[in-house]
Amino acid sequence: MKKQFAIMGLGGFGEAVGVELVRLGHEVLGVDSDETKANQLADKLTQVVIADATDEASLKELKLERFDAVLVAIGENIEASILCTMHLESLKAREVWVKAITPTHHKIVEKLGAERIFHPEYEMGLRVAQTMAHPNMLDYLALGDNYFVIEVRPGEVLDDRPFSDLKIDPDKIRLLAIKHGNSVTFEPAPDYRLRRNDHLVLLGDEKALREFTSGL
Ligand code: ADP
Repeated sequence: MKKQFAIMGLGGFGEAVGVELVRLGHEVLGVDSDETKANQLADKLTQVVIADATDEASLKELKLERFDAVLVAIGENIEASILCTMHLESLKAREVWVKAITPTHHKIVEKLGAERIFHPEYEMGLRVAQTMAHPNMLDYLALGDNYFVIEVRPGEVLDDRPFSDLKIDPDKIRLLAIKHGNSVTFEPAPDYRLRRNDHLVLLGDEKALREFTSGL
């Protein structure tokens, strides 16, 4: 279903979110006080408005309460981000999501009622560290309680071997899928023959996954 989103601040983060939402088929209103920035994105988003997102009267005109969610993606200027979040709450925006820069910024926007708060630089830093420490691991999703879903690229050539050769202990690790390019084989049968460049999508706890992948 097509949704409507608004993004306050079209820096690198705001632009990336907006363009991807449009690609996914949603409508995106972008707001930036910088005319050049707004003009650059005029063709990429559904609508772009040049406005100061800290000015309550300007925000009111945009009728932001009709949007499914509003993202505050004002980068460096924490004060502007806080002020904008405060106005969005008083204008009854349905869901306010905020990009936070510091722990204090996070606490303030949380108190103001922001539904979701992101720390893109920090979160991306953790991701990069994980993949640097485990070069075979291409991506991961932390499920909590030390369980992860990981996508690994086995180092050794596994061409034309049944995946049962991998000796996965089903009590510890589940092979959820095998990815090959864009095609995905969900829960492959034990006689599935692995091909060069297959990626394994595994679910398990951190220790078991680390032990298993170090042997690949
Ligand atoms: P990023 O880390 O996402 O690149 P930036 O700080 O570079 O963040 O970008 C933030 C964007 O927010 C800039 O395009 C800037 O013009 C815009 N911006 C800053 N203050 C306001 C404001 N008060 N109202 C609207 N847009 C703003």
